[in-house]
Amino acid sequence: MNIIFLGAPGAGKGTQAEIVSKTFGIPTISTGNIIRAAIKNGTEMGEKAKAFTEQGKLVPDEVVIGIIRERLAQPDCANGFILDGFPRTIPQAEALDSMGIAIDRVIDIDVPDDAIVARMSGRRVCKNCGASYHIEYKKPEKDGVCNDCGGELVTRADDEPQTVLERLRVYHKETEPLKDYYAKTGKLRTVKGQEKVEDTTALTLKAVED
Ligand code: AMP
Repeated sequence: MNIIFLGAPGAGKGTQAEIVSKTFGIPTISTGNIIRAAIKNGTEMGEKAKAFTEQGKLVPDEVVIGIIRERLAQPDCANGFILDGFPRTIPQAEALDSMGIAIDRVIDIDVPDDAIVARMSGRRVCKNCGASYHIEYKKPEKDGVCNDCGGELVTRADDEPQTVLERLRVYHKETEPLKDYYAKTGKLRTVKGQEKVEDTTALTLKAVED
């Protein structure tokens, strides 16, 4: 099963992607996580991406398309994969189509902008392994500490309020048109983001299997 998660930044698609990934035993590929790791490790790609990401802008299409092309060629993607945060522009979706990979489902997690802005202020990410948490909706077992690796939980630089507004602006302009793109293929399912993560998950799993 090849699944794409669409949705605004902060809509909770990463959390849902992880759950579906565990449920079906297929890997999640998050371009955001790959880019953050590259920035942290100071690779050439990371250096290119840094300024865009920090300002809430999209990294150029050719860079992310290259990341995805390489990652999807890995053997663990042979039985299916979940894309979290890719594609984010029409040219990225077209590039994916041209790779000859059939997409089975596109799940759009739909959350209004005002709820997103409120939620983003509570997001925390592990400085060490990148796992994500929320101070209200996805609490770590111990405050400020990652459940998986014990790393310190911090606010992502691009979750600061000013940057969140820019990311939402970019989302509406560049990414939202993908809803129409995938609606035309009949693969799109819209899931209304709920207050509780588990309620959104129930709707997401239904949408994946439907
Ligand atoms: P995310 O964690 O998915 O919100 O991604 C964090 C940042 O990485 C974004 O704000 C972009 O700067 C960059 N990024 C991630 N995925 C993409 C993509 N598909 N196209 C362009 N930039 C991306």
